[in-house]
Amino acid sequence: MTSSLISSRDASKDFSNVDEERRREEPSPFEVVLVAEQEGVIQATGGLRVIPDYSLDAIHSTVLGPAVGGARFWNYASEDEALADALRLSRGMTYKNALPGLPLGGGKSVIIGDSKLANREAIFRAHGRFVETLGGRYITAEDVGTSPSDMEIVCRETNHVAGLLGRSGDPAPITARGVFRAIEASAKYLWNSDRLAGVTVAIQGCGHVGYHLAKNLYAAGARLIASDVDAEKVSRLIEEFNAVAVQPDDIFAVSADIFAPCALGGVINDRTIPQLLARIVVGAANNQLLEERHGEMLKEEGILYAPDYAANAGGIFNGCIELLGSEPERASKKVDEIYETVLEIFETAKAEVTSTNKAADRIAENRFLAAAGLQNVAEMKLAT
Ligand code: NAD
Repeated sequence: MTSSLISSRDASKDFSNVDEERRREEPSPFEVVLVAEQEGVIQATGGLRVIPDYSLDAIHSTVLGPAVGGARFWNYASEDEALADALRLSRGMTYKNALPGLPLGGGKSVIIGDSKLANREAIFRAHGRFVETLGGRYITAEDVGTSPSDMEIVCRETNHVAGLLGRSGDPAPITARGVFRAIEASAKYLWNSDRLAGVTVAIQGCGHVGYHLAKNLYAAGARLIASDVDAEKVSRLIEEFNAVAVQPDDIFAVSADIFAPCALGGVINDRTIPQLLARIVVGAANNQLLEERHGEMLKEEGILYAPDYAANAGGIFNGCIELLGSEPERASKKVDEIYETVLEIFETAKAEVTSTNKAADRIAENRFLAAAGLQNVAEMKLAT
């Protein structure tokens, strides 16, 4: 992929060429929307003179509302890798928001660098300044490597930020609750019981969501196997929830009933699928499938996959308290409904003899078209 990094000083320039490039590279119904005018812009933002890091902000679609998506702080191996992640993550946000019918679009930021950076002021102020230049088309929030306190810094530069302390706050507990509901639904579908007592769950990634998911599962009587590249994070699960720790590379092949990816994307791929002993894959991580075809591969292996953006939507429901003025009770209700949504996806996939990720995409696309008052994907471009 050719990266097109544009400095924050160029924020007002015409990005139509970048959009054209994007359309050629990634044809899909939603990319048709995003190429119109300002949609789908990828920009690099500020701080290059102040600090050796910068971020890429990807807006995928604002047809249904402002693009919403967290800011990921990660040591990417290259700019291209970061760009690919931003594109995939922002697209995922469009689908995540369309599936439950939220009036929000999809976007995402990635910040390249060491997320353990101590002085975070400069980088998150730079991020906030850039988000401000987008005039509300994109609303940022926390994600991997960032926290509500980072968003407090962003808030000094822009109001277009969610997940602030004392408002909707840390979305991880409610996201974990939603993933837990998706696990229950998957167990119900496959084993005809959503009781998780005695069921073994392998958790990859014991960060914000992984920790709270472990808490829910432990309370339900599940047995836990855990891995993280950060040993401290795993030790909390060992101490508090009796988890058994394994090395990061070994988590796929452990003897577990359910595999819960709660770290980064792309972990379900040609290398890992043959290793999986688990019969169910449900987790918080975005973009778990390296490629769409890996959903089909899981199906062929008889492994039930609860699509990531259906299972991990709790965070965005929590964000709606701030973004749309939703009542907290409504957010909780929406999180509980993840159970039914996941079952609907499984039933649709079965009826249409397709993979669960494709079934989820189609349901999301249909809801997107209905909400935008469009007839077919070709018309989506006209909505912008
Ligand atoms: P986090 O940064 O708190 O936790 C991620 C953890 O994964 C870290 O502890 C990290 O050390 C670990 N990790 C990274 N690579 C790993 C590997 N190869 N093996 C094992 N562990 C590894 O992030 P989080 O907020 O818990 O989010 C986890 C995932 O869920 C992300 O993909 C995120 O996009 C997604 N998600 C989070 C939320 C939310 O509310 N925080 C909402 C929706 C989706």
